Amino acid sequence: GATIGILGGGQLGRMLALAAANMGYRVHIYAPEHELPAGDVSAEVTRAGYDNTAALDAFAAAVDVVTFEFENIDTTAIRHLAGQVPVHPGADSLEIAQDRLAEKRFVEGLGGRPAAYHAVDSRADLDAAIADLGCPAILKTRRMGYDGKGQARIHSPADAAAAWDTIGQRPAILEAFETFSHEFSVILARSEAGEIVSWPVAHNIHDNGILASSHVPAPAAIAGHIAAATALSHTVIEALGHVGVLTLEFFATPTGPIFNEMAPRVHNSGHWSIEGARTSQFENHIRAICGLPLGDTRLTADTVLMKNLLGDHVHDWHALLADPGAHLHLYGKSEIKPGRKMGHVTWL
Ligand code: ATP
Ligand code: MG
Ligand code: MG
Repeated sequence: GATIGILGGGQLGRMLALAAANMGYRVHIYAPEHELPAGDVSAEVTRAGYDNTAALDAFAAAVDVVTFEFENIDTTAIRHLAGQVPVHPGADSLEIAQDRLAEKRFVEGLGGRPAAYHAVDSRADLDAAIADLGCPAILKTRRMGYDGKGQARIHSPADAAAAWDTIGQRPAILEAFETFSHEFSVILARSEAGEIVSWPVAHNIHDNGILASSHVPAPAAIAGHIAAATALSHTVIEALGHVGVLTLEFFATPTGPIFNEMAPRVHNSGHWSIEGARTSQFENHIRAICGLPLGDTRLTADTVLMKNLLGDHVHDWHALLADPGAHLHLYGKSEIKPGRKMGHVTWL
């Protein structure tokens, strides 16, 4: 069987590795961290930095295709690997999706509408952006943010200095704060042959910038938003020439869907698809990067609910397992921290 190389070793890599194993593939994880939820369920692990050229070369020689579960990897590493082994999705998808300014401009160029924003490279830029957009607003680092990290909310111009320090005085964008009725995500997959499938859209509820739960199908009240956002998402995945899963997050507002951000990978708001769809986001990502046809994305139940299990609470496994509709997933992480994603539960 072929070997799939995955850059990054977290829970997304773990669930990709499990899907790959089900299909008879071997998985080789490459990541620098000591604790690797994905490494625990994979045949091989290379623990090395993404700037270690010798380790990257050995990894490229050991695998048949490379993918990633984490977008904050220097594209130098991806381009280096791509010279030696197929890498899906490609460096272009990664380069755009790892920079909030680039992804907003790219999606705007294809007819999408982000929240009003300004690039912020200095304190003076921030003051000018606040003067133009007004308050409330959100300051976000251009790169490396996830789970609401690298963000600061600005309620009045007096918050500017603290916000600029909170995000580490890094290149950023200031976004107008949108009032939305719902948040939702479009998750789609594109094969090497150019076939595109998308899953039923999830309505996502966030708490403190972290995904709390996903509800499928999304309420009928936002069907119009979903149709427009799905059409845009198809345009985006084609324009990127993306192979694999891509996720776009949106806000449903009175003026239509607002594009928030995208991820060039499987997504937390698609975890429900393991039991809730005929083919999960993980299986279709593996199919896509391995040059296979994509599987049916239709629901296996009338409604599906996914809740994240965060390190903030003590969870009652026995009660969850006693619930016949519940499917418990734990990621094997030993260190419990507030806000850390320890597992999730899906109810059909
Ligand atoms: P993820 O873990 O999804 O990658 P992230 O750190 O990249 O998160 P965002 O998705 O940009 O962060 O923001 C996190 C959440 O904060 C959003 O899902 C939404 O609830 C809220 N949010 C972000 N931007 C805005 C905005 N412009 N207006 C209103 N709410 C916002
Ligand atoms: Mg993000
Ligand atoms: Mg997000």
